[in-house]
Amino acid sequence: MSIEQELLTRSGSQCELCTSKDDLSVYEVSPSDGSVAQAIMICAKCKEQVEDSSKLDESHWHCLNDSMWSEHSAVKVVSYRLLKALGNQDLLDMMYLEEDEKAWADTGLSDEDDSREPTFDSNGAKLEAEDTVTIIKDLEVKGAGFTAKRGTAVRNIALTNNPEQIEGRVNGTRIVLLTKFLKKQ
Ligand SMILES: [Zn+2]
Repeated sequence: MSIEQELLTRSGSQCELCTSKDDLSVYEVSPSDGSVAQAIMICAKCKEQVEDSSKLDESHWHCLNDSMWSEHSAVKVVSYRLLKALGNQDLLDMMYLEEDEKAWADTGLSDEDDSREPTFDSNGAKLEAEDTVTIIKDLEVKGAGFTAKRGTAVRNIALTNNPEQIEGRVNGTRIVLLTKFLKKQ
């Protein structure tokens, strides 16, 4: 039997997250070994949002209330990642994952971070999220209409996907800063 047939049987031909019967397809839960145990049957609407968290529509995900209790680890893992992405701490607190399920769920979450190139300041010191940095040169902030003064401390920075840039709050405005003009404190 193909994975698709096995999942259709397991799920009763419905989306294992929201129970929709529309446009079902197989979704392999990363990192997957390609087995049925690590895949779920998913509808197009869920799949679109699972694959692109910028499309998350909170009103669609009341179904996680149920799917988080699934007997299938793969369904629980996807539910857990979605709850994380939605910031639904209440349900996360209630949720129960075995240790190996938790490890699997978190591996998927940290994928993105691991693939990111490290970010360094002007001296080659590695920068991490929430670090404090000092600006070492007066910087015109285009679009914001002010100058970020040399010597200004920027607390609680956030890393970006570009290793040459970080984000931080200066003069109450969240701006992108070039790491070559920064020094870690
Ligand atoms: Zn669905």
